[in-house]
Amino acid sequence: MKAVLFYQHGGPEVLQYADFPTPEPKAGEVLVRLRAAALNRMDVMVRNGWPGLKLEMPHINGADGAGEVAALGEGVTEFQIGDRVVINANLGCGRCDFCLAGEDHRCRNWHLLGETVRGTYAEYVALPARQLYRLPPDFDFHQAAAAALVYQTAWHSLITRGGLRAGETVLIVGAGGGVNTASLQIAKLAGARVIVVGSNARKLEKAAALGADILIDRSKEEDWSKAVFLASGKRGVDVVVDNVGTTFMQSLRTLRKGGRLLTVGNSGGPRFEIDNRYIFARHLSIIGSTMSPIRDFVEVMNLVVSGKLQPVIDSTFPLREAAKAQERLWNGENFGKITLEIG
Ligand code: ZN
Repeated sequence: MKAVLFYQHGGPEVLQYADFPTPEPKAGEVLVRLRAAALNRMDVMVRNGWPGLKLEMPHINGADGAGEVAALGEGVTEFQIGDRVVINANLGCGRCDFCLAGEDHRCRNWHLLGETVRGTYAEYVALPARQLYRLPPDFDFHQAAAAALVYQTAWHSLITRGGLRAGETVLIVGAGGGVNTASLQIAKLAGARVIVVGSNARKLEKAAALGADILIDRSKEEDWSKAVFLASGKRGVDVVVDNVGTTFMQSLRTLRKGGRLLTVGNSGGPRFEIDNRYIFARHLSIIGSTMSPIRDFVEVMNLVVSGKLQPVIDSTFPLREAAKAQERLWNGENFGKITLEIG
């Protein structure tokens, strides 16, 4: 098969469009002929590498993908060849106490597709059947691939962990990223009022088109946390979605007493200072999560295929131009998801 792979960590130049053996589905697995993949910032972090990350080389990036069932491993009866599917990249072992309790995102032997095992920048991938969600016959592969990781992540964070309720006010820090656009749509669907802090007018206009109620341009606000506090009627917001990390202090200042800060990532960097007095004196909760259990994935994909949540696709590149696609993502030029066309 054709795949985009790398033999050593480094910049976009390490990515090669090359031949690689097509995987064979083991017992309980399904071989998927991928038609679309979607990018995540994690792809670039894995390509760059970090201390302690040990991968079997060559590695193949990519957590998100959709396509058709091409072959079935022994014992798989729930799918047929030709079925259209989208992948859940959260790989639980299916056997540990967490997996058996339906908490496969907290698996003791947890893996993420494309991070620690070879991913979806390829024509084929083999996965356990439980990782697949069946798509309706006419549902677009790019829409499906663009949805999977970010919607399950945002749903689990906002709804399951964050307990977001109708009538609450949510602040989303950042306008353009995949998780943030998914969070905006999910918050609106849940009946919340949404404030978005964005880096420029172009991204904020697009956030407004997705239903954002209040827009704050941080290029024009010296202190955006104060602007958010004023926009909330000096009450403070109920929930903040902060996947930047280095903005935590500003985010904490915008919360009402008893408010929740939700985080699923740290695009601004992993280390920063927090003034602990804000947390106890204002009764705040910081709630972290990553990915979601299968039940949240199914719940949110049901909303995607029924059209209640519509992934925003920024752009699509051919598989062989994955390096160019990663550059666009890493530079923050996108609004919504970047996908790869796998011919
Ligand atoms: Zn497990």
